[in-house]
Amino acid sequence: MYYIGNHLPVANGYAAMGSKALELGGNTFAFFTRNPRGGSAKEIDKEDVEEFLKIADKNGFGKLVAHAPYTLNLCSEKEKTRNFSKEMMADDMKRMEYVPGNYYNFHPGSHTGQGVETGIEIIAGALNDILSPGQSTRVLLETMAGKGSEVGSKFEEIREIMDRVEQKDKLGVCLDTCHIWDGGYDIVNNLDGVIDEFDRIIGLENLYAIHFNDSKNECGSHKDRHERIGYGQIGLKAMKRVALHPAFAGKPFILETPNDDEGYIEEIAMFKRWQEEK
Ligand code: FE
Ligand code: FE
Ligand code: ZN
Repeated sequence: MYYIGNHLPVANGYAAMGSKALELGGNTFAFFTRNPRGGSAKEIDKEDVEEFLKIADKNGFGKLVAHAPYTLNLCSEKEKTRNFSKEMMADDMKRMEYVPGNYYNFHPGSHTGQGVETGIEIIAGALNDILSPGQSTRVLLETMAGKGSEVGSKFEEIREIMDRVEQKDKLGVCLDTCHIWDGGYDIVNNLDGVIDEFDRIIGLENLYAIHFNDSKNECGSHKDRHERIGYGQIGLKAMKRVALHPAFAGKPFILETPNDDEGYIEEIAMFKRWQEEK
């Protein structure tokens, strides 16, 4: 079984996202829990969610991978930003319970000059405050490209955060192929080596989702510019090897590529073709 989808707009509701995913050929999707730039979120319509759950059930959808707003930064040097980020994430945890048992992915944060170690401490502390034993959502730390002062571009940094979080059963990792490539992990020439390293440091059992993106830039560039599958520096062959690697089998693959609907239809169809001819 495989799960593939892209980012869909939450503005029209959950049932609309479910229908849109089907229209594009997908059986999972990502969505921003609120405006990607942050701020207050729209009230959730229970009937709309009911309708979505029926669509998902009928069509064998995989886990959804919600995405926290980009402005969320748990380890900013500004106290106001830290507090606002914690409030947003805590509120998102409540909202996610309308669609129970799914994933919520977030960027660990940017330490904005405080240093990686301080950043790691603050992120873990915030997660310890936010995560609760009763929640059904698993929160995923995204591997980052290392742009600016981003924390989480090295597997060791992700591990250090995980080690400090008490609610480990609510935590996991989302691997972004563009980000790890930009972060210096050569998945073109050494995919197995990179996966071994991920397993040794983070543990493959902690991997729950893949952000499936090509990259506009070279390995180690720390730029974080996504490209359409096969049109970037990672390239078609390597992206196909990632798609079919047994370590990633059965996980939701989310496209975050610069595309219109047409482009997503093509990429989703290509991913399915690869899986089926395997
Ligand atoms: Fe992301
Ligand atoms: Fe991503
Ligand atoms: Zn990115």
